[in-house]
Amino acid sequence: MSCTYAYRFKFVTIGDAGVGKSCLLLQFTDKRFREVEDLTTGVEYGACVVAVDGKNTKLQIWDTAGQEAFRCITRSYYRGNAACLLVYDITRRETFFNHLASWLEDATQHASARMTIILIGNKCDLSHRRVVSYQEGEQFAKEHGLLFMEASAKTAHNVEKAFILAARTVHKKI
Ligand code: GDP
Repeated sequence: MSCTYAYRFKFVTIGDAGVGKSCLLLQFTDKRFREVEDLTTGVEYGACVVAVDGKNTKLQIWDTAGQEAFRCITRSYYRGNAACLLVYDITRRETFFNHLASWLEDATQHASARMTIILIGNKCDLSHRRVVSYQEGEQFAKEHGLLFMEASAKTAHNVEKAFILAARTVHKKI
């Protein structure tokens, strides 16, 4: 795809360590999956030009890359961002039931109220190990006014769709 673009949006990823934030980013930008956990290749930034409603749009995505250990991410991380991908792992209850609300609070406290937030239930290829139902994810999103999708960074299911849905929502706000 041509690298000229009409719009440029900044995105950030948040959520517990190990939920697959770096892998989602890598799958979206490079169309590949990193099987083995290797912190040295943790992605911190990726960019991709996609067509959103017929307009080439550059998405610049920053990954927390380890900062989630501190949970409270600094205000500067959120500054100027159009969208936030809030990620949990459908096979780990604590990433949804215990920690999601505090991630959301962090984002809504530090970011602009205009920021689009999409909730992503990742690792949906592991449905045999699922402990968070689709309906629970959907309900949380509804209650907090978030977009929602389940995805898999491994199979690429819904990965591009999730980024494009978020970008389309950002487009509509400008
Ligand atoms: P992060 O700490 O949130 O950035 O998580 P990573 O992207 O480093 O992923 C953590 C682990 O989960 C790695 O071992 C990945 O290979 C694995 N992983 C990430 N996404 C998926 C997925 O969609 N399906 C499966 N089966 N494993 C995944």
